[in-house]
Amino acid sequence: PPGTRIAVVTGGNKGIGLEVCRQLAASGVTVILAARDETRGAAAAEKLREQGVAGVIFHQLDVTDASSIARLAEFLKARFGRLDILVNNAAIGGIELVDDPSFGPKPVGEQFDGMDWHQRIGWMYKNSRQTYSTAKEGLQTNYYGTKHVTEALLPLLQSSSDGRVVNVSSGFGLLRYFRSEELKQELNDADNLTEERLDDLLDTFLRDFEAGAPALGARGWPDEFASYKVAKAAVNAYWRIMARRHPELRVNCAHPGYVRTDMTRNSGLLTPEEGASNVVKVALLPAGGPTGAFFAMGKEASF
Ligand code: NDP
Repeated sequence: PPGTRIAVVTGGNKGIGLEVCRQLAASGVTVILAARDETRGAAAAEKLREQGVAGVIFHQLDVTDASSIARLAEFLKARFGRLDILVNNAAIGGIELVDDPSFGPKPVGEQFDGMDWHQRIGWMYKNSRQTYSTAKEGLQTNYYGTKHVTEALLPLLQSSSDGRVVNVSSGFGLLRYFRSEELKQELNDADNLTEERLDDLLDTFLRDFEAGAPALGARGWPDEFASYKVAKAAVNAYWRIMARRHPELRVNCAHPGYVRTDMTRNSGLLTPEEGASNVVKVALLPAGGPTGAFFAMGKEASF
């Protein structure tokens, strides 16, 4: 119906993204559930429909594939002529999971009962491995993929009277995880940082990663979950650049909390519904609200 807002949710087929689709649709928004896999994506949209959720449309999108991104942009242009809300949710862990048989068959959620945040994250780290190829893939999906989707959909967002972007970022993208004051300052200097400089920094990170732990340490990159933290910090920085460049849009980053999904091997403290509500809250802020901000579990916080 006329006046209905149009949203795209990337990685909408499962986890937090699926619940963001459900909650946006329940608020009367028409939702494009975007997923890289046709079968999984269409099945997720169909399941929502069966559960009585109206207004969810599946469209294929692999955020690392330029032609897939272009097809989504074409579809939106032809069908709606604009986009009101983009939720950049799709991401990967940038690690290889190591299967620890002592944790038994999945789902493993209940095995985390009684463990605090640090113990759960510690378990995740112990049961994962960072390699050069997973680190590179992490940057390609989590930073460059998000950026390319946004660039392609920008004209459509500008055709909206109240265009918004919410990047599902992470507490792991906070600058406190960087062990060098120089890197922290540079990434925090939203007024002077450029996209080119961000590319340079990410290239340097990958070279240091390839050279090994001493090189990573010497430059002050994060240690555990390095690629994920660097990519999410780059997302946060890019969005501050975009907020400055596009005052006509509201662009913000949202940390959903530590959520039980495949990415965390169900080790999180929150349900996907709870995590999604921390994202949807930012997507549906009243008009004229903050831009270039970071929200941690629904509340504005520092980067
Ligand atoms: P899941 O692993 O459950 O879901 C990730 C989604 O991203 C899946 O739909 C996956 O698709 C999709 N995806 C991955 N790569 C691509 C790609 N190249 N193109 C399109 N889609 C892709 O993770 P979560 O739900 O936990 O994560 C959602 C977001 O929340 C991420 O941005 C994550 O970084 C962030 N986050 C999560 C936290 C948590 O505790 N869970 C904490 C902080 C942030 P497929 O099914 O095909 O693999």
